[in-house]
Amino acid sequence: MQAAETVEPGERQYRMCARCVMDTTDSKIIFDNQGVCNHCRYVDEQVKYYWFPDERGELLLRKMIDKVKQFGDGKPYDSIIGLSGGVDSSYLAVKVGEWGLRPLAVHVDAGWNSELAVKNIDQIVTKVGLDLHTHVVDWEEMRDLQLAFLRSNLANQDVPQDHAFFAALYNYAVKNGIKYVISGSNYATESILPTSWGYDAMDARHLKSIHRIYGSRRIKTFPLVGFLKYHVYYPEIRKMVVLNPLNYIRYSKGEAIDYLEKRYGWRYYGAKHYESRWTRFFQAYYLPTKFGYDKRKAHLSSLIVAGEITRDQALKELEKPLYTENELAEDKAFVAKKLGITLAELEDLVAQPPRHYTEFPNNEARFRRFAVARSYVLNKLCSS
Ligand SMILES: [Zn+2]
Repeated sequence: MQAAETVEPGERQYRMCARCVMDTTDSKIIFDNQGVCNHCRYVDEQVKYYWFPDERGELLLRKMIDKVKQFGDGKPYDSIIGLSGGVDSSYLAVKVGEWGLRPLAVHVDAGWNSELAVKNIDQIVTKVGLDLHTHVVDWEEMRDLQLAFLRSNLANQDVPQDHAFFAALYNYAVKNGIKYVISGSNYATESILPTSWGYDAMDARHLKSIHRIYGSRRIKTFPLVGFLKYHVYYPEIRKMVVLNPLNYIRYSKGEAIDYLEKRYGWRYYGAKHYESRWTRFFQAYYLPTKFGYDKRKAHLSSLIVAGEITRDQALKELEKPLYTENELAEDKAFVAKKLGITLAELEDLVAQPPRHYTEFPNNEARFRRFAVARSYVLNKLCSS
């Protein structure tokens, strides 16, 4: 166990949760008198309202399937599903096929796909029998955005890639009149993610402001979804609904990997989100080196609270190095070449002092006001 030997005034003494493996590298973490962290308590107290790996989930799932099938009557597709080649979306695509749904699979290629991800997507769509639409993000624009984010020295370097994934999927669904978006988001593998480790990738104002300051070319085709579209126009006017069916089944990551490998020729790529070479570099090198954040702690903690692994197993996993020396050298060279900069330039960008998203324009305050107003209106409607 790591422990700070001396603690400077104002500095927090190192501490890890007694139940999961989240620790004081999350600056906002708090512990109760049993030494259990706020993330574990959030899962205990809040997530039960959204996560039903039981009979109730079966019922909700059946209703959801009926609704989607009804919508799809007479149409080429009843829904749309994002496919990254990762475990969650691949397993979901397989289950959706088993449930008799007819989604259009959409893959957003932001330029960082690992070879395995591409092969996995191919295996899944072929064997499940799905039509695949691939949206290729203009690489020069993506590159410019990624470099702008690196120059901003912010924690969440996955903003451009994540925004592109969701914006392209939602824009395509709405444009083609497909109401239901089936998402692999789930509480079984991702219930814990500290907000202090990054910032919302869906804040287009934030993304554009970083690009305005540090970018060098115009963004013309990069998929964007702005505040009003994302929070009002798509859900309220166009009635787009995002469904998370993995929260209605008993979803085990280990069993899902096993199932996909045995039946679909799918292969695992080592860790959560490593289907993207950028995300591997970002999570296993940039974030821990520059900020001291090890995302494995959040991923493993999610699996602990879901009962999938023990705390001891997680601690053993954390003892493993994030990268072997060879892999790191290989990925650094790959990332620098792909971004069109030298290895020294990349290392210099990583070595710059970290900055915080609040130093840049963003829609956080606007979203808070919007959420308060929405809950006020909903309460009024429910009580009238
Ligand atoms: Zn905890």
